[in-house]
Amino acid sequence: HLPTAELQALDAAHHMHPFTDGDELNAKGARIITRAQGVYLTDSNGIEILDGMAGLWCVNIGYGREEMAEVAARQMRQLSFYNTFFQTSHPPAIHLAAKLAEIVPGDLNHVFFNGSGSDSNDTNLRMVRVYWALKGKPEKTVVISRWNGYHGSTMGAASLGGMKGMHKQGGLPIPGIVHINQPDWWSEGGDMTPEEFGLMRARELEEKILEIGEDKVAAFIAEPVQGAGGVIIPPDSYWPEIRRILDKYGILFIADEVICGFGRTGNWFGSQTFDLRPDIMTIAKGLSSGYLPIGGSMVSDEVASVINSDEFAHGYTYSAHPVAAAVALENLRILEDEKIIDTVRADTGPYLKAKWEALTNHPMVGEAKIVGMMASIALTPDKASRAKFAAKEGTVGLICRERCFANNLVMRHVGDRMIISPPLVISRGEIDLLIERARKALDETYEKVKA
Ligand code: PLP
Repeated sequence: HLPTAELQALDAAHHMHPFTDGDELNAKGARIITRAQGVYLTDSNGIEILDGMAGLWCVNIGYGREEMAEVAARQMRQLSFYNTFFQTSHPPAIHLAAKLAEIVPGDLNHVFFNGSGSDSNDTNLRMVRVYWALKGKPEKTVVISRWNGYHGSTMGAASLGGMKGMHKQGGLPIPGIVHINQPDWWSEGGDMTPEEFGLMRARELEEKILEIGEDKVAAFIAEPVQGAGGVIIPPDSYWPEIRRILDKYGILFIADEVICGFGRTGNWFGSQTFDLRPDIMTIAKGLSSGYLPIGGSMVSDEVASVINSDEFAHGYTYSAHPVAAAVALENLRILEDEKIIDTVRADTGPYLKAKWEALTNHPMVGEAKIVGMMASIALTPDKASRAKFAAKEGTVGLICRERCFANNLVMRHVGDRMIISPPLVISRGEIDLLIERARKALDETYEKVKA
């Protein structure tokens, strides 16, 4: 391909990047990634970077698996495309749907395929309205979600999300979506214990239901662990109380498993790790380990029986794309046959946990949180008071992210929290390297922030 500088110039001239400041991009140029293998990316200058984020929390089986390429090529030769509209189907969709029904918890035995996490959540928004209308309760339309949650970028999904910056652009949320606060004890817990705080935040759901009227609430949506919000792992008191409230008012629960699904928390699904028992589950990312775009809405026997009682006038051209479905099925085979999730739960997960939690001995690291292979640390000038830096929120986090990148480690920042979500196949040796580079980046950030 072209030399790096030429690629960067063309990129800045013609390519609009998601979540990127165009002026900054023009000034610095993008880092161009040309290859990837296992947990490593290679840039256009031949430098290897340890990917602590598995791309965008998605490359669970690691990069460059030959079997995935072979399955894609085979499927493309055999049936490159057909749809599943108007009473047609095809083997990759059928086998993938059946496999998913086998591995999901509870009776979420039915899947509606979508192209991504965002449009899966848009499907869910429509589906819960259709469900209640078919049950004779068309006034149940409101969906409750959480501030700082992330559910995607379409009008519907960004409205479900609680990213205020996104809401500001384009006048979101759309009507019918309301938010409650998140269970982020480190930032917002004040003098309460984490458990008291978790209960308080869960009870906001009940307050919101009563405020809106239970006859109007269709569903509650939440990620088992808020990912893009900063890997916020709730206090233990939180989920049981949420479950109690949902049961009390008979409200549908959508667990957005786009990040937590397919092994990220050490079980197939975050719903198992936190005993959530959802009625609907959003899946994407790790479903195909990012090899091709595919998402899905998994629904319970009850929800499916109601939705299927009429024609659901909804579908994307690429719902159940045969090549994406075949690749997803192969991804599930690899996860299962190679016992990748078992290894995360019993070996590499605990290994990373010990090293990650030890980062709190760094002068700038407050709490360290981790479940399975997703983790965060809070950066702070004063651990005891959980203080924030004087500089604008996110300034120190951004410095740290840049120091990580300079040390050939991808680690993301959310405000002044640093987060990782490496490929699930990361080895002990690679974990050692990740921690070594993270410590170096933290030291360099500390030097800059102290000055
Ligand atoms: N839901 C969650 C929890 C996510 O983290 C994301 C993406 O990061 C989405 C939904 C949106 O998925 P996509 O980017 O595939 O549209």
